[in-house]
Amino acid sequence: MKTNLAESIRNTPEGQEANDILRACVHCGFCTATCPTYQLLGDELDSPRGRIYLIKEVVEGNEVTAKTQLHLDRCLTCRSCETTCPSGVRYGRLVDIGRNIVDKYVPRSPVDVAMRSALNFVLPRQYIFKPLLRVGQALRPLLPASLSGKVPNTVAANTTWPAPRHARKMLVLDGCVQPALAPDINPATARVLDRIDISLIKADAAGCCGAVTFHLNKQDAALNYMRRNIDAWWPFVEQGVEAIVMTASGCGTMVRDYAHLLANDPDYAEKAQRITDMTRDISEIISGELPELKKQVEEVPAFDHGTKPRIAFHSPCSLQHGQQLRGGAEQALMAAGFELTTVPDSHLCCGSAGTYSILQETLPKRLLKNKVAALESGHPVAIATANIGCLTHIQSGSEIQVRHWIELIDERLTAR
Ligand code: SF4
Ligand code: SF4
Repeated sequence: MKTNLAESIRNTPEGQEANDILRACVHCGFCTATCPTYQLLGDELDSPRGRIYLIKEVVEGNEVTAKTQLHLDRCLTCRSCETTCPSGVRYGRLVDIGRNIVDKYVPRSPVDVAMRSALNFVLPRQYIFKPLLRVGQALRPLLPASLSGKVPNTVAANTTWPAPRHARKMLVLDGCVQPALAPDINPATARVLDRIDISLIKADAAGCCGAVTFHLNKQDAALNYMRRNIDAWWPFVEQGVEAIVMTASGCGTMVRDYAHLLANDPDYAEKAQRITDMTRDISEIISGELPELKKQVEEVPAFDHGTKPRIAFHSPCSLQHGQQLRGGAEQALMAAGFELTTVPDSHLCCGSAGTYSILQETLPKRLLKNKVAALESGHPVAIATANIGCLTHIQSGSEIQVRHWIELIDERLTAR
């Protein structure tokens, strides 16, 4: 699509990038078929093609209105459209650029500003989020239904972390909200890897990957989180860790983008590239070690009565679209003896999408209802997923337990 960039951004890296992405779009509309918001609302401006057109108007310097902001806000950034697009349009990057410009021209309501600032302040900081969550959990019975559904129950966690003893070492991103919401996930990952001769270690000085802040459109602040993590990880990289492991696919998508986002920072560009190259989702690590996993499974008793527990796997958008990773977690679950149910429309977003489920009113609820119905349709005993946001969001709509798939593998291997 030919674009005449506005003078104000013509010579900026963002302007050039937007121009390149817009040129790749041939307006065929294939992407509309897999866009969750277009499916629900049926409005072209709530489809990828419509939003691309809106962003074109923005970067060409035409009037930017609250309507433009509304349609860009309604986008989940699920990137299902990228998977579908035959022309390789990098829509996710384009919408980030578009939102950044739109927010400079269209003021948000005081309530919206306060909400976004609060989320940006609390979520990336474990030391604030964790105590607040505990207070919310204690008061849960007293909260209105609209709020209590967003506060997950307390969970009994096994946080035993094996001491590093293997020559093979990997680093894990501890993250921000995950250790408070599901404290078992990273220790379970460490235990599974320990059994296949890999020690998992943490860098205490690292923290939030920057995704929450970046997607709340505070992109400069997010870049500082990224630099902080690179500094924290670098000594371990120099000591020879094999990979930087992500147990939340949303974080993985962000960290894989460090190289691109810091490409113009002379102090960090090279290191960011190395970090991106070393980033692996835990499903990539385990699916590369399947023979070893199977050997471990052979040493544990078979499931009761020889029946395989049925699991519905929800592949987060950040895994299947953001990182284009498919099948690894499913292969690992099957290797551990679980049976996977068929999940209709598995390419569609559950409606969590970072802070989307908090900032948007009705769309997350409609998407959740559809997703839960799809996941429960195969009568599973548990739902497994790979991202903490999806996990808590789906759990808020289902009576069936929702777990990270690595927790199920860990429990399987400890059933001795
Ligand atoms: S983003 Fe891709 S699929 Fe969608 S209209 Fe453009 S070229 Fe077609
Ligand atoms: S990212 Fe998702 S919600 Fe946004 S336009 Fe693409 S498919 Fe639609």
